[in-house]
Amino acid sequence: MKRILITGAAGFLGSHLCDRFIKEGYHVIGMDNLITGDLKNIEHLFGLKEFEFAHHDVSKFIHVPGKLDYILHFASPASPIDYLKIPIQTLKVGSLGTHNCLGLAMAKGARILVASTSEVYGDPDVHPQPEEYWGNVNPVGPRGVYDEAKRFQEAMTMAYHTYHGLETRIIRIFNTYGPRMRLNDGRVLPAFIGQALRGEDLTVFGDGSQTRSFCYVDDLVEGIYRLLLSDYPFPVNIGNPDEITIGDFAEEIIKLTGTDQKVIYKELPTDDPTQRQPNITKAREILGWEPKVNRAEGLKITYEYFKSLPEEELYKKDHKDFEAYIRK
Ligand code: UDP
Repeated sequence: MKRILITGAAGFLGSHLCDRFIKEGYHVIGMDNLITGDLKNIEHLFGLKEFEFAHHDVSKFIHVPGKLDYILHFASPASPIDYLKIPIQTLKVGSLGTHNCLGLAMAKGARILVASTSEVYGDPDVHPQPEEYWGNVNPVGPRGVYDEAKRFQEAMTMAYHTYHGLETRIIRIFNTYGPRMRLNDGRVLPAFIGQALRGEDLTVFGDGSQTRSFCYVDDLVEGIYRLLLSDYPFPVNIGNPDEITIGDFAEEIIKLTGTDQKVIYKELPTDDPTQRQPNITKAREILGWEPKVNRAEGLKITYEYFKSLPEEELYKKDHKDFEAYIRK
């Protein structure tokens, strides 16, 4: 049985990856420090002999007993609000955490895939973004802690590949959505759906002309699976190229939820990218991958998920105790 370590296992993407690799017949070791992740996302796996959980911060030395065939490094805060609240931890997990994962991969002879992001392109002046584009990132702005940690992560991963011959894969993930996103993490989709469910106006930042391209989580997981099993060591964009302005997206959520609330406009956060759309030529050619779930289908499933949550979840500011974590 192949053994795989998934860091960030209790998070949105990590938990879906645990499900997928268990389904594919792997033994999954899920690791998470639970600062932004939530055990609720993986509690259905705890009874399985193919699954084990390690409560650990990957920014510190990682020990995993036994053999490891693969590592997926998905531990990181991923919402702009989170990395504003825990900037140092965001930098550490992308840098020190990646270094520890790469060292573990060396020690175990494992292949490693690291989760990078479209944020490495910053506020892009090439559109749509191909992997060859180097980006337009402000290193000292509020998003710099995430963007630069991920850029460092890519550099470190390539260095382990070229210098040590380690088998490495790098995925650049564009905006992804689906069940198990945190309702109160500040990202646009849970923000809008939460507002609709509470009967509040939807908050569009700026004039709503900035664009994003949203990928359904099952499509993303399929792309990760294919990239891991491929032999391509350079970065690959995975995302859905169906681009929409945030203003139009708010209108879609209003229609979907049937809310009679309106859109209100708030200040655009610093360095908020004006446009984002993946060029997925590489994923198509190298992995034979493209997204299958359109936004209407994906949003419907995601809305059903948020509706099924206990009502008190809707009114929690944030159930994450960052302060307690930072003091540790
Ligand atoms: N956004 C918004 N209202 C919200 C939350 C976010 O208009 O309540 C905007 C945000 O300014 C950005 C886009 O939606 O332009 C996507 O934001 P998100 O935080 O989901 O992710 P990003 O792609 O910026 O990392």
